[in-house]
Formats: sequence, C-alpha cells, structure tokens
Amino acid sequence: MSESELLARHRAVLPDWLALYYDEPIEIVRARGRRVTDSAGVTYLDFFAGILTNAIGYDIAEISDAIRSQVDSGVLHTSTLYLIRKQVELAEQIAQLSGIPDAKVFLTNSGTEANETALMLATQYRRSHQVLAMRNSYHGRAFATIGITGNRGWSASALSPVKVSYVHGGYRYRDAFRGLSDADYVRACADDLRDVLQTTTSGDVAALIAEPIQGVGGFNVPPDGLFAAFKEVLDSYGILLISDEVQTGWGRTGEHFWGIQAHGVTPDAMTFAKGLGNGLAIGGLVARGELMDAISANSISTFGGNPVSTAGAKATLDYLLSHDLQGNAAKQGTRLLTGLRDLAEGNDIVGDVRGKGLMIGVEFVEPDGAPSPEAARLLLEETRARGLLVGKGGLHNNVIRLAPPMTLTDEETGEGLDILRESVAAVREGRK
Ligand code: PMP
Repeated sequence: MSESELLARHRAVLPDWLALYYDEPIEIVRARGRRVTDSAGVTYLDFFAGILTNAIGYDIAEISDAIRSQVDSGVLHTSTLYLIRKQVELAEQIAQLSGIPDAKVFLTNSGTEANETALMLATQYRRSHQVLAMRNSYHGRAFATIGITGNRGWSASALSPVKVSYVHGGYRYRDAFRGLSDADYVRACADDLRDVLQTTTSGDVAALIAEPIQGVGGFNVPPDGLFAAFKEVLDSYGILLISDEVQTGWGRTGEHFWGIQAHGVTPDAMTFAKGLGNGLAIGGLVARGELMDAISANSISTFGGNPVSTAGAKATLDYLLSHDLQGNAAKQGTRLLTGLRDLAEGNDIVGDVRGKGLMIGVEFVEPDGAPSPEAARLLLEETRARGLLVGKGGLHNNVIRLAPPMTLTDEETGEGLDILRESVAAVREGRK
C-alpha cells in the first residue's frame, strides 16, 4: 500500500485535529542511527527525532537488548501492584540526578500524565486551585494541562479544573518586553509576576509551572536568571515551582542536565517524558518527598513504570550518561547555532536564530518582520526534498525547530547545515 493510500485511510478514520507534516505525509518503516527510511524507500537525516522522543537515535544495541531481554522473559507487564526492579532502579537514578532534596519519583506513560500529576499534587499540597503558567506555553492535552497551556492553537477546551493566570517571560522575541536587555527583561518579567499575583489571584496560588525553554512555543530561550528572579517572588508567597522538563531534560540543552539548572534554582518538582524512553512511552515526575506524598488516597497508573518501558528507559539513561551525550549536544549545538546565525546574517526571511544545545529554533519572517508561517511551511518541504526532517512550531507556526538525536556526528551536523542553507536559499528565491 502506498503512502497516499494510507493517508486516505488515515483521514477517513482518525480525527481531523490530528495534524500531519508535509503536503504528502511520510510513513517511516526503518531507522538506524540518525536516519529514518520511509515506505517509498527514501532515507532522511532526522533533525527532529520524532519531536525529541528519540534522544539517542535509532536502533541502539544496548537499548534494544535491554528491551528484548524483558520481552523474552514473557513479562511485558503484570501490574504495578507487584515490585518492578527496573522501576525502582530508574527512580533511584532520576531522584539522584534531579538535585531535589529528599526526592521521590512517580512514573507515567506521557508528559501530559506527568504534568496532570504534578498539578494534582501541588493544588492538593497548597489547598488552592490557582496556578500560574507562562504565556505561549504547552503542557499537555488533558483537562488541567490544556487549561494551563498558553497557546490558543493548542487550547482545545476552555473547561479547566484549575484557575490559571499567565505571566511573561516565554516568547521574548515578540512579547510585550521585547527589545530590553537581559537584565531589564528579567526585571520586567519579575515585576509582571508580582503584578499578576496582586491583580488576578488571591495570592494563595499553588504553583508556577514553566518550561525552561518553550518547546511547542518555538524553542524560546529566556535569559539565564529569569527563574531565579521568579523564585524569589514565588518564595515570598510560598508558591511552588514546577519545571516542565519534557523537552529540556536529559542534557539536551548541552549546558546542564535539566533546563532549569541554567537559572541556578532547584524547583519543587520536575516533570519529564519524551527522550527518556528513546521512543518508548514513559514519563514521570520527580518532586520533594513531602510534595509527592501530599495525597492520601490511592493513585495508580496501570502502565506507568511498566517493566518494558523502565528497562528501555534505564538503558537509555545509562547510555546517554556513559557516552557524555550532554557534551555532544553542547558541541554540535554550538556548531549548528553558529552556522545558522551566519546564514541569518543579512537574510531577510530569517528573523531570529535561538537555542541551547540541540534545541534550536529558526523564526521565519516577512520583509516587514511579521511572522511568516508560509516560509516555514515551504522550508519544511524544501528540507524534506533534500533528505532532512525538521520540526515546526511557535505561536504563529513560523518557527523551524531542530532537535536531532544527541548522538549526532560532526559529519551529520555539516550535512544538515548544508541542506538548511540550500533550503533557506530556495525559499528566499521563491519569494522574489
Ligand atoms: N510538556 C511539554 C513541554 C511538551 O512539549 C509536551 C509534548 N509536546 C508535553 C508536556 C506533553 O507530553 P505528551 O505529549 O507526552 O503527553
């Protein structure tokens, strides 16, 4: 069956709101290293890693072996009512890596479920259903997480169990405080937070939840220190800080293992998912023990922390730590950022190049600086035609997102950059 026949069947039976990339969507049937092959036999260099799920790359022997050995035991899962060795080992490792004192870990099947749990615990602990979130944020697709997501394109429902107030500091390139120096920007955002607390809440707010670098929102990097300034304000109210590390965790930002560490603060909880399983469905949260144990009722995730996912996740974590993939993310990321900034120089379709490590956003603009979703759409097609997969996002759908597997090699970085250069030139040429 061809990809176009599969597409027709997809459209008939799956919901309209389940977006697909490309004018002619692809079906990936094989993958090795940083390359994936579609059912038409075309191989692509993958600079999006399935929206960061493939932290390390495809078909890594150590990870496949760990999963296979669990599958061979016959126990895909029984239930979390029994002890699961790999779950305990993984939780111990994440607790230790978190830097959170007295940390406890709960494992889920997705980032959404992790954030829902974090919000449930924080609201219960603080006895308040008021929550702060960042403008232009994305935290998931269940009721509370949709309720706090600050991006209309992903706010599928207005019905929410939490009362949310939004603060600035997410999308610096276009927000109300754009153009300020780092220090002034941080000051303005902290003042805004104080103002929001005074004007839109009763003060007894449960938590601020934030992505250290916004993912869906377009890989927006705030100045280092923003969350330290926020934390000072939050602490004066006793408000918790939850760092959503679903995209920024596991060393992807190069500088630090967790994105929030760039700000020199320790949050009360961190949520994670995506890259941990290197493609397997696993997420979770790590929090101060007192917060984690804030509920007294039972709460179980049937598949959260199952033997197969935890075996794969443990192998993934061991691999990325023992191969210093954080160091490689820093190295390849710097090369990519430098190359892209050179490309943007004097190029009127690229408005901004930003990022940290292997999390890089390129914002496309019209000649007058307005967002250009059309240029980003064309760029996606041009890169695909040249054998490179990239992501798209941002509030205006005009940001190309680059997040290759963290095992990216020097040659692959060069190859990706070449394709990006040619593709940007082609889109620019088309506009003339
Ligand atoms: N938080 C962030 C920052 C995310 O990027 C996402 C997914 N894009 C989620 C939460 C939700 O994760 P999931 O899709 O696994 O539910």
